[in-house]
Amino acid sequence: MTDAGPPEMTRRGFLRKGAATVAGMSALAAALSPLRDLAPDDVPSIEELLQKHYKEMTPAEKQAVLERIAREVEQRYKVRPTLSDPPPLDGVEFVYGLNISRCIGCRKCVHACVQENNQSRSPEIQYIRVLKMQKGSIDVETSDHHYDPPAVPEHDSYYMPVQCHQCAKPPCVKVCPVEATWQEPDGITVIDYDWCIGCRYCEAACPYWARRFNFAKPELPADQLNPHMAYLSNRPRAKGVMEKCTFCLHRTRRGRLPACVEVCPTGSRKFGNVLDPDSEVAYILRQKRIFVLKQDVGTLPRFFYYFDERGSRYHEPITPVKPRA
Ligand code: SF4
Ligand code: SF4
Repeated sequence: MTDAGPPEMTRRGFLRKGAATVAGMSALAAALSPLRDLAPDDVPSIEELLQKHYKEMTPAEKQAVLERIAREVEQRYKVRPTLSDPPPLDGVEFVYGLNISRCIGCRKCVHACVQENNQSRSPEIQYIRVLKMQKGSIDVETSDHHYDPPAVPEHDSYYMPVQCHQCAKPPCVKVCPVEATWQEPDGITVIDYDWCIGCRYCEAACPYWARRFNFAKPELPADQLNPHMAYLSNRPRAKGVMEKCTFCLHRTRRGRLPACVEVCPTGSRKFGNVLDPDSEVAYILRQKRIFVLKQDVGTLPRFFYYFDERGSRYHEPITPVKPRA
């Protein structure tokens, strides 16, 4: 490390300003000179710099990338991860249903997600934002997601969790200048962290505040690492890249539920394959009066909200709980 060079130079900054413009190996050699100014941990390997776009890699090249990442994770966290790249399943399109009558705003989903998906703990990155709103209003712009009462639910409020809605017409994908984010056949919009240049266009384009940017180097204590990870979901990220909810694709493409569904104590969260007419989500779409957030923006979310039309949760006995921040 020397004291020369621009102070804002980061690993991603290098990739953006340097690697994206290299035309051949000689240019690459010249472009490598800014690496002198990076912290050793942030220096991208030659394999990473020369890595092809995800969609262009052969199975053997993908395998080599997975092995490189597993080595890097082991080196950094002293834990050998199981790193895979589960593909979308044929005949599956995932959708999510959220019963607003049942959500008590406890934020257990928020924290289960952080644990499952290896987000930075400092600063903590959370994919799920639980909006608190006054009963009788549905103005998300004036909602509060920093609420901290002694206990929830509060009698005059209701709660509306928001995360990536895996839109069928995702504006975030359209604006990405390098195709680092795309929609998969099962409806999940993914990000290749090795391809993201950190321009944040997608974050600006998303109407649901669903994308999170790593402004700082993610801090994840080794004893909190989830070693069961996938390339397009919860593998550790670097400073300067975007991330977001992937419906826990490393679990859901193997028949498991997302962590947020599993942990919810009130059954507010429903998830499944909408192409299966016998699935719970297909039943909800047929039988409930569902709605989507900001329908007018035309992104066609795969995340549906609904209410219990008979017997609201607030008529049942509820044990108040302290929400976690
Ligand atoms: Fe609502 Fe369930 Fe999340 Fe708690 S865990 S905030 S009840 S969705
Ligand atoms: Fe993209 Fe935002 Fe839609 Fe998710 S919710 S697919 S990040 S536009």
